[in-house]
Amino acid sequence: MYDVIVIGSGPAGYVAAIRASQLGLKTACVEKSFHNDSPQLGGTCLNIGCIPSKALLDSSHRYADALHQFSDHGIKVQNPTIDIPKMMDRKNKIVAQLTGGISSLFKANNVTQILGTATIMGANTVEVTYEGKTETLETLNIVIASGSSPIDIPVAKVNHKNIVDSTGALEFQAVPKTLGIIGAGIIGLELGSVWARLGSKVTILEALDDFLPMADSKISKEVLKEFNKQGLNINLGCKVNAAKSNKKNVTVNYENNGSEFELNFEKLIVAVGRKPNTENLFSKSSGLSVDERGFIPVNNFCETKVKNIWAIGDVVRGPMLAHKASEEGIMVVERIAGNQVEMEYAHVPSVIYTHPEVAWVGQNEKDLSDAGLEFKTGSFPFAASGRALATGESTGFVKVIADKKTDTILGVHAFGPSAADIVQQGVVAMEFKASAEDLGLTIFSHPTVSEALHEAAMAVNEKAIHIGNIKK
Ligand code: FAD
Ligand code: AMP
Repeated sequence: MYDVIVIGSGPAGYVAAIRASQLGLKTACVEKSFHNDSPQLGGTCLNIGCIPSKALLDSSHRYADALHQFSDHGIKVQNPTIDIPKMMDRKNKIVAQLTGGISSLFKANNVTQILGTATIMGANTVEVTYEGKTETLETLNIVIASGSSPIDIPVAKVNHKNIVDSTGALEFQAVPKTLGIIGAGIIGLELGSVWARLGSKVTILEALDDFLPMADSKISKEVLKEFNKQGLNINLGCKVNAAKSNKKNVTVNYENNGSEFELNFEKLIVAVGRKPNTENLFSKSSGLSVDERGFIPVNNFCETKVKNIWAIGDVVRGPMLAHKASEEGIMVVERIAGNQVEMEYAHVPSVIYTHPEVAWVGQNEKDLSDAGLEFKTGSFPFAASGRALATGESTGFVKVIADKKTDTILGVHAFGPSAADIVQQGVVAMEFKASAEDLGLTIFSHPTVSEALHEAAMAVNEKAIHIGNIKK
Protein backbone atom coordinates (compact mmCIF):
# COMPACT_ATOMS: atom_id res chain seq x y z
CA MET A 1 0.00 0.00 0.00
CA TYR A 2 1.43 3.35 -1.07
CA ASP A 3 0.61 6.69 0.55
CA VAL A 4 0.77 8.42 -2.84
CA ILE A 5 0.80 7.21 -6.43
CA VAL A 6 1.63 9.96 -8.90
CA ILE A 7 0.59 9.38 -12.53
CA GLY A 8 3.04 11.07 -14.90
CA SER A 9 6.61 12.26 -14.38
CA GLY A 10 6.50 15.73 -15.97
CA PRO A 11 7.24 18.87 -13.93
CA ALA A 12 3.93 18.37 -12.09
CA GLY A 13 4.42 14.70 -11.30
CA TYR A 14 8.13 14.38 -10.58
CA VAL A 15 8.15 17.41 -8.29
CA ALA A 16 5.07 16.11 -6.43
CA ALA A 17 6.69 12.67 -6.05
CA ILE A 18 9.97 14.03 -4.70
CA ARG A 19 8.30 16.35 -2.20
CA ALA A 20 5.86 13.60 -1.12
CA SER A 21 8.79 11.33 -0.36
CA GLN A 22 10.60 14.15 1.48
CA LEU A 23 7.51 14.44 3.66
CA GLY A 24 7.80 10.78 4.64
CA LEU A 25 5.04 9.48 2.37
CA LYS A 26 5.57 6.13 0.64
CA THR A 27 5.50 7.28 -2.99
CA ALA A 28 5.49 5.78 -6.48
CA CYS A 29 5.52 7.61 -9.81
CA VAL A 30 4.08 5.83 -12.86
CA GLU A 31 5.31 6.90 -16.31
CA LYS A 32 4.21 5.38 -19.60
CA SER A 33 6.95 6.80 -21.88
CA PHE A 34 9.97 4.57 -22.00
CA HIS A 35 13.47 4.18 -23.33
CA ASN A 36 15.39 0.87 -23.14
CA ASP A 37 12.71 -0.66 -20.90
CA SER A 38 13.03 2.14 -18.34
CA PRO A 39 10.61 5.02 -17.77
CA GLN A 40 11.53 8.14 -19.75
CA LEU A 41 11.08 10.72 -17.00
CA GLY A 42 10.53 14.47 -17.28
CA GLY A 43 7.34 14.66 -19.36
CA THR A 44 6.77 17.19 -22.11
CA CYS A 45 8.87 19.87 -20.45
CA LEU A 46 12.18 18.05 -20.35
CA ASN A 47 11.80 15.81 -23.40
CA ILE A 48 9.89 17.76 -26.03
CA GLY A 49 9.04 21.15 -24.51
CA CYS A 50 10.71 23.80 -22.36
CA ILE A 51 14.23 22.42 -22.34
CA PRO A 52 14.84 21.33 -25.94
CA SER A 53 13.12 24.48 -27.23
CA LYS A 54 15.32 26.67 -25.05
CA ALA A 55 18.44 24.77 -26.17
CA LEU A 56 17.55 25.51 -29.81
CA LEU A 57 16.57 29.09 -29.03
CA ASP A 58 19.94 29.62 -27.41
CA SER A 59 21.96 28.02 -30.25
CA SER A 60 20.03 29.88 -32.94
CA HIS A 61 20.39 33.15 -31.03
CA ARG A 62 24.17 32.77 -30.91
CA TYR A 63 24.23 32.06 -34.63
CA ALA A 64 22.08 35.13 -35.36
CA ASP A 65 24.37 37.22 -33.16
CA ALA A 66 27.40 36.00 -35.08
CA LEU A 67 25.68 36.91 -38.35
CA HIS A 68 24.19 40.26 -37.40
CA GLN A 69 25.47 41.63 -34.07
CA PHE A 70 29.14 40.74 -33.67
CA SER A 71 30.22 43.30 -36.26
CA ASP A 72 28.67 46.12 -34.13
CA HIS A 73 31.16 45.15 -31.41
CA GLY A 74 34.03 45.18 -33.85
CA ILE A 75 34.21 41.38 -33.96
CA LYS A 76 34.82 40.00 -37.41
CA VAL A 77 33.69 36.45 -38.19
CA GLN A 78 33.97 35.23 -41.76
CA ASN A 79 30.80 33.57 -43.08
CA PRO A 80 29.51 31.78 -39.98
CA THR A 81 27.75 28.53 -40.83
CA ILE A 82 25.41 26.35 -38.81
CA ASP A 83 25.77 22.59 -38.33
CA ILE A 84 22.18 21.52 -37.60
CA PRO A 85 22.93 17.87 -36.66
CA LYS A 86 25.52 19.14 -34.14
CA MET A 87 23.04 21.67 -32.76
CA MET A 88 20.45 18.86 -32.39
CA ASP A 89 23.02 16.60 -30.77
CA ARG A 90 23.77 19.27 -28.17
CA LYS A 91 20.05 19.63 -27.46
CA ASN A 92 19.60 15.85 -27.16
CA LYS A 93 22.52 15.60 -24.72
CA ILE A 94 21.00 18.30 -22.49
CA VAL A 95 17.67 16.44 -22.52
CA ALA A 96 19.38 13.14 -21.67
CA GLN A 97 21.35 14.75 -18.84
CA LEU A 98 18.26 16.30 -17.27
CA THR A 99 15.92 13.32 -17.67
CA GLY A 100 18.64 11.04 -16.26
CA GLY A 101 18.98 13.54 -13.41
CA ILE A 102 15.35 12.98 -12.43
CA SER A 103 15.94 9.25 -12.22
CA SER A 104 18.84 9.93 -9.84
CA LEU A 105 16.68 12.31 -7.79
CA PHE A 106 13.98 9.62 -7.55
CA LYS A 107 16.55 7.13 -6.28
CA ALA A 108 18.03 9.62 -3.82
CA ASN A 109 14.55 10.45 -2.50
CA ASN A 110 13.24 6.87 -2.38
CA VAL A 111 10.55 7.42 -5.01
CA THR A 112 9.58 4.12 -6.66
CA GLN A 113 9.61 4.45 -10.47
CA ILE A 114 7.02 2.32 -12.20
CA LEU A 115 6.98 1.85 -15.96
CA GLY A 116 3.58 1.52 -17.63
CA THR A 117 0.27 3.16 -18.46
CA ALA A 118 -1.81 3.92 -15.38
CA THR A 119 -5.58 3.60 -15.20
CA ILE A 120 -7.47 4.73 -12.11
CA MET A 121 -9.97 2.07 -11.08
CA GLY A 122 -11.17 3.70 -7.85
CA ALA A 123 -10.12 6.13 -5.13
CA ASN A 124 -7.46 3.70 -3.89
CA THR A 125 -6.68 1.52 -6.89
CA VAL A 126 -4.44 2.07 -9.90
CA GLU A 127 -3.80 -0.48 -12.62
CA VAL A 128 -0.49 -0.24 -14.47
CA THR A 129 -0.07 -1.94 -17.84
CA TYR A 130 3.19 -2.49 -19.68
CA GLU A 131 3.70 -4.84 -22.62
CA GLY A 132 0.40 -6.60 -22.04
CA LYS A 133 0.96 -7.25 -18.33
CA THR A 134 -1.22 -5.49 -15.76
CA GLU A 135 -0.35 -4.91 -12.13
CA THR A 136 -2.82 -3.60 -9.53
CA LEU A 137 -1.51 -1.12 -6.96
CA GLU A 138 -3.24 0.08 -3.80
CA THR A 139 -2.73 3.59 -2.45
CA LEU A 140 -4.20 6.09 -0.01
CA ASN A 141 -3.92 9.01 -2.47
CA ILE A 142 -3.68 9.41 -6.24
CA VAL A 143 -2.15 12.47 -7.89
CA ILE A 144 -2.99 12.75 -11.59
CA ALA A 145 -0.23 14.56 -13.52
CA SER A 146 -0.81 13.14 -16.98
CA GLY A 147 -0.10 16.42 -18.79
CA SER A 148 -1.10 17.46 -22.30
CA SER A 149 -0.46 16.81 -26.00
CA PRO A 150 -0.54 19.01 -29.12
CA ILE A 151 -3.98 19.67 -30.57
CA ASP A 152 -4.36 18.09 -33.99
CA ILE A 153 -6.75 20.01 -36.27
CA PRO A 154 -8.57 18.16 -39.07
CA VAL A 155 -7.71 20.90 -41.59
CA ALA A 156 -3.97 20.35 -41.10
CA LYS A 157 -3.32 16.74 -40.10
CA VAL A 158 0.19 16.15 -38.81
CA ASN A 159 2.02 13.56 -40.96
CA HIS A 160 5.35 13.78 -39.10
CA LYS A 161 7.08 14.50 -42.42
CA ASN A 162 6.36 17.95 -43.76
CA ILE A 163 3.39 18.76 -41.49
CA VAL A 164 4.60 18.54 -37.91
CA ASP A 165 3.64 19.55 -34.40
CA SER A 166 5.95 21.18 -31.84
CA THR A 167 7.74 17.86 -31.25
CA GLY A 168 8.59 17.49 -34.95
CA ALA A 169 9.71 21.11 -35.13
CA LEU A 170 12.39 20.35 -32.53
CA GLU A 171 13.80 17.61 -34.76
CA PHE A 172 14.32 19.13 -38.23
CA GLN A 173 17.67 17.91 -39.58
CA ALA A 174 18.01 20.79 -42.06
CA VAL A 175 16.77 24.36 -42.21
CA PRO A 176 13.56 24.43 -44.29
CA LYS A 177 13.79 27.12 -46.98
CA THR A 178 10.21 28.12 -46.27
CA LEU A 179 8.32 27.41 -43.08
CA GLY A 180 4.64 27.97 -42.36
CA ILE A 181 3.35 28.04 -38.80
CA ILE A 182 -0.33 27.84 -37.84
CA GLY A 183 -0.83 29.75 -34.58
CA ALA A 184 0.95 32.80 -33.16
CA GLY A 185 0.85 31.56 -29.56
CA ILE A 186 3.91 31.16 -27.37
CA ILE A 187 5.03 27.88 -28.96
CA GLY A 188 4.55 29.15 -32.53
CA LEU A 189 6.56 32.30 -31.80
CA GLU A 190 9.41 30.46 -30.08
CA LEU A 191 9.75 27.79 -32.76
CA GLY A 192 9.33 30.39 -35.51
CA SER A 193 12.18 32.39 -33.96
CA VAL A 194 14.49 29.38 -33.93
CA TRP A 195 14.06 28.57 -37.61
CA ALA A 196 13.89 32.20 -38.82
CA ARG A 197 17.24 32.90 -37.13
CA LEU A 198 18.72 29.87 -38.86
CA GLY A 199 17.63 31.16 -42.26
CA SER A 200 14.10 29.90 -42.89
CA LYS A 201 11.60 32.23 -44.52
CA VAL A 202 8.89 32.01 -41.86
CA THR A 203 5.20 32.86 -42.27
CA ILE A 204 2.89 32.65 -39.26
CA LEU A 205 -0.86 32.43 -39.85
CA GLU A 206 -3.02 33.34 -36.86
CA ALA A 207 -6.81 33.14 -36.91
CA LEU A 208 -7.37 35.86 -34.31
CA ASP A 209 -7.20 39.55 -35.17
CA ASP A 210 -5.51 40.24 -31.83
CA PHE A 211 -1.84 39.44 -31.31
CA LEU A 212 -0.91 37.99 -27.87
CA PRO A 213 -4.27 39.00 -26.35
CA MET A 214 -3.17 37.74 -22.92
CA ALA A 215 -0.28 40.25 -22.71
CA ASP A 216 -0.31 43.99 -21.99
CA SER A 217 -1.67 45.59 -25.17
CA LYS A 218 1.18 48.13 -25.55
CA ILE A 219 3.71 45.33 -25.20
CA SER A 220 1.84 43.15 -27.73
CA LYS A 221 1.97 46.03 -30.24
CA GLU A 222 5.72 46.52 -29.80
CA VAL A 223 6.37 42.78 -29.89
CA LEU A 224 4.44 42.42 -33.15
CA LYS A 225 6.46 45.22 -34.74
CA GLU A 226 9.77 43.79 -33.53
CA PHE A 227 9.02 40.19 -34.57
CA ASN A 228 7.92 41.27 -38.04
CA LYS A 229 11.22 43.17 -38.27
CA GLN A 230 13.02 39.96 -37.29
CA GLY A 231 11.37 38.20 -40.25
CA LEU A 232 8.65 36.23 -38.51
CA ASN A 233 6.03 37.63 -40.91
CA ILE A 234 3.02 37.34 -38.60
CA ASN A 235 -0.34 37.44 -40.40
CA LEU A 236 -3.35 38.05 -38.16
CA GLY A 237 -6.97 37.26 -38.99
CA CYS A 238 -5.83 34.37 -41.21
CA LYS A 239 -7.76 31.18 -40.60
CA VAL A 240 -6.25 28.08 -42.16
CA ASN A 241 -8.90 25.96 -43.87
CA ALA A 242 -6.73 23.27 -45.46
CA ALA A 243 -3.16 22.02 -45.61
CA LYS A 244 -2.23 19.43 -48.21
CA SER A 245 1.06 17.62 -48.35
CA ASN A 246 2.55 17.24 -51.85
CA LYS A 247 5.77 15.49 -52.77
CA LYS A 248 7.78 18.69 -52.66
CA ASN A 249 5.92 20.92 -50.23
CA VAL A 250 2.77 21.71 -48.28
CA THR A 251 0.00 23.80 -49.80
CA VAL A 252 -1.89 25.85 -47.25
CA ASN A 253 -5.23 27.51 -47.92
CA TYR A 254 -6.43 30.22 -45.62
CA GLU A 255 -8.98 32.99 -45.52
CA ASN A 256 -8.46 36.58 -44.55
CA ASN A 257 -11.17 39.26 -44.61
CA GLY A 258 -13.48 37.00 -46.62
CA SER A 259 -10.91 36.26 -49.37
CA GLU A 260 -9.14 32.94 -49.99
CA PHE A 261 -5.34 32.68 -50.24
CA GLU A 262 -2.87 29.90 -50.94
CA LEU A 263 0.78 29.53 -49.90
CA ASN A 264 3.36 26.76 -50.32
CA PHE A 265 5.89 25.82 -47.66
CA GLU A 266 8.65 23.26 -47.41
CA LYS A 267 7.47 22.49 -43.86
CA LEU A 268 4.42 23.40 -41.82
CA ILE A 269 4.25 23.51 -38.02
CA VAL A 270 0.82 23.16 -36.43
CA ALA A 271 0.99 25.09 -33.14
CA VAL A 272 -2.66 25.66 -32.29
CA GLY A 273 -2.56 24.76 -28.62
CA ARG A 274 -2.54 21.67 -26.40
CA LYS A 275 -5.16 19.34 -24.99
CA PRO A 276 -5.20 17.51 -21.63
CA ASN A 277 -4.22 13.80 -21.57
CA THR A 278 -7.25 12.08 -20.10
CA GLU A 279 -8.03 9.37 -22.65
CA ASN A 280 -8.43 5.96 -20.93
CA LEU A 281 -7.04 7.48 -17.74
CA PHE A 282 -9.82 6.33 -15.45
CA SER A 283 -12.59 3.74 -15.36
CA LYS A 284 -16.24 4.74 -15.08
CA SER A 285 -16.36 3.28 -11.58
CA SER A 286 -13.61 5.67 -10.41
CA GLY A 287 -16.17 8.46 -10.13
CA LEU A 288 -13.97 10.86 -12.13
CA SER A 289 -15.09 12.82 -15.18
CA VAL A 290 -13.79 15.57 -17.45
CA ASP A 291 -15.23 18.93 -18.46
CA GLU A 292 -16.30 19.87 -22.01
CA ARG A 293 -12.67 20.61 -22.99
CA GLY A 294 -11.31 17.39 -21.51
CA PHE A 295 -9.78 18.90 -18.34
CA ILE A 296 -10.25 17.24 -14.96
CA PRO A 297 -12.27 19.68 -12.84
CA VAL A 298 -10.52 20.66 -9.59
CA ASN A 299 -10.86 23.33 -6.90
CA ASN A 300 -8.14 25.80 -5.85
CA PHE A 301 -6.37 23.02 -3.95
CA CYS A 302 -6.40 20.67 -6.97
CA GLU A 303 -8.89 18.31 -5.29
CA THR A 304 -11.09 16.41 -7.75
CA LYS A 305 -14.64 15.45 -6.87
CA VAL A 306 -13.35 12.06 -5.63
CA LYS A 307 -11.85 12.23 -2.15
CA ASN A 308 -8.10 11.50 -2.14
CA ILE A 309 -7.75 11.90 -5.91
CA TRP A 310 -5.96 15.09 -6.91
CA ALA A 311 -5.05 16.49 -10.34
CA ILE A 312 -2.27 18.95 -11.20
CA GLY A 313 -0.44 20.57 -14.13
CA ASP A 314 -1.57 20.71 -17.75
CA VAL A 315 -4.43 18.25 -17.14
CA VAL A 316 -6.31 20.89 -15.10
CA ARG A 317 -7.43 24.51 -15.65
CA GLY A 318 -4.98 27.39 -15.71
CA PRO A 319 -1.96 28.23 -17.84
CA MET A 320 -0.10 25.25 -19.31
CA LEU A 321 3.25 26.12 -17.76
CA ALA A 322 5.87 23.96 -16.09
CA HIS A 323 6.32 26.18 -13.02
CA LYS A 324 2.56 26.31 -12.41
CA ALA A 325 2.48 22.50 -12.71
CA SER A 326 5.35 22.04 -10.22
CA GLU A 327 3.90 24.43 -7.65
CA GLU A 328 0.59 22.60 -7.79
CA GLY A 329 2.52 19.36 -7.20
CA ILE A 330 4.10 20.79 -4.07
CA MET A 331 0.83 22.24 -2.78
CA VAL A 332 -1.03 18.95 -3.21
CA VAL A 333 1.44 16.66 -1.46
CA GLU A 334 1.98 19.18 1.35
CA ARG A 335 -1.78 19.11 1.86
CA ILE A 336 -1.79 15.30 1.76
CA ALA A 337 0.81 15.45 4.54
CA GLY A 338 -1.50 17.73 6.53
CA ASN A 339 0.18 21.07 5.85
CA GLN A 340 -2.19 23.91 4.90
CA VAL A 341 -0.21 25.09 1.87
CA GLU A 342 -2.00 27.24 -0.73
CA MET A 343 -0.99 28.48 -4.14
CA GLU A 344 -1.26 32.10 -5.28
CA TYR A 345 -2.57 31.68 -8.81
CA ALA A 346 -2.49 35.44 -9.38
CA HIS A 347 1.30 35.29 -9.19
CA VAL A 348 2.02 32.74 -11.92
CA PRO A 349 4.40 34.47 -14.33
CA SER A 350 4.30 33.94 -18.11
CA VAL A 351 7.32 34.13 -20.40
CA ILE A 352 7.88 34.00 -24.14
CA TYR A 353 11.53 33.07 -24.65
CA THR A 354 12.02 34.96 -27.88
CA HIS A 355 14.68 37.60 -28.26
CA PRO A 356 13.97 39.97 -26.70
CA GLU A 357 11.92 38.07 -24.14
CA VAL A 358 8.33 38.93 -23.28
CA ALA A 359 7.18 38.35 -19.70
CA TRP A 360 4.45 39.37 -17.33
CA VAL A 361 2.83 38.63 -14.00
CA GLY A 362 -0.44 39.76 -12.47
CA GLN A 363 -3.01 41.95 -14.10
CA ASN A 364 -2.67 44.20 -17.13
CA GLU A 365 -4.39 47.52 -17.80
CA LYS A 366 -7.26 45.89 -19.70
CA ASP A 367 -7.93 43.34 -16.92
CA LEU A 368 -8.10 46.15 -14.37
CA SER A 369 -10.23 48.47 -16.51
CA ASP A 370 -12.63 45.61 -17.26
CA ALA A 371 -12.89 44.93 -13.52
CA GLY A 372 -13.53 48.64 -12.88
CA LEU A 373 -10.46 48.95 -10.62
CA GLU A 374 -8.46 52.16 -10.31
CA PHE A 375 -4.74 51.87 -10.99
CA LYS A 376 -1.64 53.86 -11.86
CA THR A 377 1.26 52.80 -14.08
CA GLY A 378 4.93 53.56 -14.49
CA SER A 379 7.09 52.55 -17.48
CA PHE A 380 10.76 52.71 -18.27
CA PRO A 381 12.26 52.10 -21.72
CA PHE A 382 15.44 50.04 -22.11
CA ALA A 383 16.62 52.78 -24.50
CA ALA A 384 17.30 54.80 -21.32
CA SER A 385 19.09 51.96 -19.51
CA GLY A 386 22.88 52.26 -19.46
CA ARG A 387 23.40 48.50 -19.29
CA ALA A 388 20.92 47.77 -22.08
CA LEU A 389 22.72 50.27 -24.32
CA ALA A 390 26.11 48.84 -23.37
CA THR A 391 24.98 45.36 -24.46
CA GLY A 392 23.29 46.70 -27.57
CA GLU A 393 19.87 45.40 -26.50
CA SER A 394 17.74 48.45 -25.89
CA THR A 395 14.41 47.39 -27.44
CA GLY A 396 11.32 47.40 -25.22
CA PHE A 397 10.33 48.59 -21.77
CA VAL A 398 9.18 47.58 -18.29
CA LYS A 399 5.79 48.55 -16.92
CA VAL A 400 4.67 48.40 -13.30
CA ILE A 401 0.98 48.67 -12.45
CA ALA A 402 -0.11 49.54 -8.90
CA ASP A 403 -3.37 50.09 -7.05
CA LYS A 404 -4.27 53.76 -7.29
CA LYS A 405 -4.94 54.19 -3.55
CA THR A 406 -2.78 51.60 -1.75
CA ASP A 407 0.15 51.62 -4.24
CA THR A 408 0.23 47.76 -4.00
CA ILE A 409 1.81 46.25 -7.12
CA LEU A 410 -0.83 44.53 -9.25
CA GLY A 411 1.21 43.63 -12.32
CA VAL A 412 4.65 43.77 -13.90
CA HIS A 413 5.07 43.55 -17.67
CA ALA A 414 8.28 43.55 -19.67
CA PHE A 415 9.55 43.24 -23.21
CA GLY A 416 13.30 43.43 -23.54
CA PRO A 417 16.60 42.00 -22.34
CA SER A 418 16.21 39.48 -19.48
CA ALA A 419 12.48 40.28 -19.27
CA ALA A 420 11.84 36.89 -17.60
CA ASP A 421 14.29 37.59 -14.79
CA ILE A 422 13.05 41.14 -14.36
CA VAL A 423 9.44 40.02 -14.08
CA GLN A 424 10.54 37.33 -11.63
CA GLN A 425 11.65 40.13 -9.30
CA GLY A 426 8.13 41.53 -9.66
CA VAL A 427 6.74 38.11 -8.67
CA VAL A 428 8.80 38.16 -5.46
CA ALA A 429 7.69 41.73 -4.74
CA MET A 430 4.03 40.80 -5.31
CA GLU A 431 4.35 37.68 -3.14
CA PHE A 432 5.42 39.96 -0.28
CA LYS A 433 2.59 42.40 -1.13
CA ALA A 434 5.09 45.16 -1.93
CA SER A 435 4.02 48.62 -3.04
CA ALA A 436 5.56 50.44 -6.01
CA GLU A 437 7.20 52.69 -3.43
CA ASP A 438 8.78 49.63 -1.70
CA LEU A 439 10.31 48.55 -5.00
CA GLY A 440 11.41 52.12 -5.69
CA LEU A 441 13.19 52.21 -2.30
CA THR A 442 14.93 48.87 -2.95
CA ILE A 443 18.60 48.99 -3.98
CA PHE A 444 19.30 47.68 -7.49
CA SER A 445 22.87 46.96 -8.65
CA HIS A 446 24.21 49.33 -11.24
CA PRO A 447 24.53 48.83 -14.12
CA THR A 448 21.94 46.08 -14.61
CA VAL A 449 18.93 45.82 -16.89
CA SER A 450 16.92 45.22 -13.69
CA GLU A 451 17.30 48.92 -12.97
CA ALA A 452 14.52 49.40 -15.56
CA LEU A 453 12.16 47.73 -13.05
CA HIS A 454 13.39 50.06 -10.29
CA GLU A 455 12.80 53.10 -12.50
CA ALA A 456 9.38 51.86 -13.67
CA ALA A 457 8.35 51.37 -10.02
CA MET A 458 9.52 54.91 -9.20
CA ALA A 459 7.70 56.21 -12.30
CA VAL A 460 4.41 54.89 -10.85
CA ASN A 461 4.62 57.76 -8.34
CA GLU A 462 6.23 60.23 -10.76
CA LYS A 463 9.66 59.78 -9.19
CA ALA A 464 11.72 58.16 -11.96
CA ILE A 465 15.22 59.61 -12.12
CA HIS A 466 16.48 58.70 -15.58
CA ILE A 467 13.40 59.64 -17.60
CA GLY A 468 10.86 62.46 -17.59
CA ASN A 469 7.84 61.68 -15.41
CA ILE A 470 4.35 61.78 -16.85
CA LYS A 471 2.04 63.87 -14.63
CA LYS A 472 -0.90 61.71 -13.51
P1 FAD B 1 3.72 16.73 -18.93
O1 FAD B 1 5.02 17.39 -18.89
O2 FAD B 1 3.00 16.64 -20.23
O3 FAD B 1 3.96 15.27 -18.34
C1 FAD B 1 2.95 14.31 -18.27
C2 FAD B 1 3.57 12.94 -18.22
O4 FAD B 1 2.57 11.98 -17.90
C3 FAD B 1 4.17 12.48 -19.54
O5 FAD B 1 5.49 12.03 -19.35
C4 FAD B 1 3.26 11.33 -20.00
O6 FAD B 1 3.95 10.32 -20.70
C5 FAD B 1 2.75 10.81 -18.65
N1 FAD B 1 1.46 10.12 -18.72
C6 FAD B 1 0.32 10.57 -19.31
N2 FAD B 1 -0.69 9.68 -19.12
C7 FAD B 1 -0.17 8.67 -18.39
C8 FAD B 1 -0.71 7.45 -17.89
N3 FAD B 1 -1.99 7.11 -18.07
N4 FAD B 1 0.11 6.61 -17.20
C9 FAD B 1 1.41 6.95 -17.01
N5 FAD B 1 1.97 8.08 -17.46
C10 FAD B 1 1.19 8.92 -18.13
N6 FAD B 1 6.33 25.68 -20.04
C11 FAD B 1 7.06 26.58 -19.34
O7 FAD B 1 6.75 26.86 -18.20
N7 FAD B 1 8.15 27.18 -19.91
C12 FAD B 1 8.54 26.93 -21.18
O8 FAD B 1 9.54 27.48 -21.65
C13 FAD B 1 7.79 26.00 -21.93
N8 FAD B 1 8.14 25.71 -23.20
C14 FAD B 1 7.44 24.77 -23.89
C15 FAD B 1 7.82 24.49 -25.20
C16 FAD B 1 7.13 23.55 -25.94
C17 FAD B 1 7.56 23.24 -27.35
C18 FAD B 1 6.04 22.85 -25.34
C19 FAD B 1 5.29 21.80 -26.11
C20 FAD B 1 5.64 23.13 -24.04
C21 FAD B 1 6.33 24.10 -23.31
N9 FAD B 1 5.96 24.44 -22.00
C22 FAD B 1 6.67 25.37 -21.31
C23 FAD B 1 4.81 23.80 -21.33
C24 FAD B 1 5.29 22.70 -20.37
O9 FAD B 1 6.03 21.76 -21.08
C25 FAD B 1 4.08 22.05 -19.71
O10 FAD B 1 3.29 23.04 -19.09
C26 FAD B 1 4.52 21.05 -18.67
O11 FAD B 1 5.31 20.03 -19.23
C27 FAD B 1 3.30 20.43 -17.96
O12 FAD B 1 3.73 19.53 -17.02
P2 FAD B 1 2.86 18.27 -16.60
O13 FAD B 1 3.70 17.53 -15.61
O14 FAD B 1 1.50 18.70 -16.21
O15 FAD B 1 2.68 17.39 -17.91
P1 AMP C 1 -1.76 28.79 -28.02
O1 AMP C 1 -3.04 28.12 -27.61
O2 AMP C 1 -1.37 29.95 -27.18
O3 AMP C 1 -0.63 27.81 -28.23
O4 AMP C 1 -2.02 29.43 -29.45
C1 AMP C 1 -2.54 28.73 -30.55
C2 AMP C 1 -3.04 29.75 -31.55
O5 AMP C 1 -3.42 29.09 -32.77
C3 AMP C 1 -4.27 30.53 -31.08
O6 AMP C 1 -3.95 31.91 -31.07
C4 AMP C 1 -5.33 30.22 -32.12
O7 AMP C 1 -6.13 31.34 -32.44
C5 AMP C 1 -4.51 29.79 -33.35
N1 AMP C 1 -5.26 28.92 -34.28
C6 AMP C 1 -6.03 27.86 -33.96
N2 AMP C 1 -6.58 27.27 -35.09
C7 AMP C 1 -6.13 28.03 -36.16
C8 AMP C 1 -6.34 27.97 -37.60
N3 AMP C 1 -7.09 27.01 -38.20
N4 AMP C 1 -5.71 28.90 -38.37
C9 AMP C 1 -4.92 29.85 -37.80
N5 AMP C 1 -4.71 29.95 -36.47
C10 AMP C 1 -5.30 29.06 -35.64
